[in-house]
Amino acid sequence: KKITIAIDGHSSTGKSTAAKQLAVKLQYVYVDTGAMYRAVSFYALRENLLAKGSLDIEKLVESLPDIHISFKYNKDTDRADVYLNGENIEKQIRTLEVSGIVSKVAEISEVRAKLVEQQKAMGEEKGIVMDGRDIGSVVFPDAELKVFMTAAPEVRAQRRYAELLERGDDVSLEEVLENVIGRDHIDSTREDSPLIQLPEAKLLDTSKMTREEQFELLVSWAEIAVEK
Ligand code: C5P
Repeated sequence: KKITIAIDGHSSTGKSTAAKQLAVKLQYVYVDTGAMYRAVSFYALRENLLAKGSLDIEKLVESLPDIHISFKYNKDTDRADVYLNGENIEKQIRTLEVSGIVSKVAEISEVRAKLVEQQKAMGEEKGIVMDGRDIGSVVFPDAELKVFMTAAPEVRAQRRYAELLERGDDVSLEEVLENVIGRDHIDSTREDSPLIQLPEAKLLDTSKMTREEQFELLVSWAEIAVEK
């Protein structure tokens, strides 16, 4: 039997790494929904919808029919890259510039409605691991396994900082910490589909856990959920 697995949680908790690993192990499809919100944000930046410092929400909503997001497997990274209107933008969406506006973009109800519809369609076939902020609450409320991932903000910022440095980005740890805390706040307090810790979700606090320990725990939860 194949099930649906929803992984939600705070920014930079290692959700996508864990979700991806779990999907490989179970031979399930993995979908990174954060990449979809990042793709819309990248579109807004490129189209200069942020020209005067504040986001032109009306223009972005008007442009939504022109924004087509898709995923395609990349054999070099063994992950699916995200595409915007046929262009691979996987590298461009991980910058601090995109991270700086993505939570603002994700507050827009029309953006959420569009992406949630696409996500639900991707999950019509069982055997999927999806990570994000509203997967257990909105996209797959009937998921057989729901996980809520968190970690201390300092730990998360340090991890994300190391990743950005490795890519050669010029950022400071303070900036990254500010972004992580800022996104948590917007994601948890927005009106439309805020990030919440559902009572039925299993809590995974990765502050003091290695990737291997996280993975083992996730696999054991998945095995139990499949048996049920
Ligand atoms: O997961 P990631 O950090 O890449 O997500 C980027 C941002 O996209 C989040 O901070 C959040 O604002 C938004 N997001 C969302 N709902 C999702 C996934 C991501 O609002 N399902």
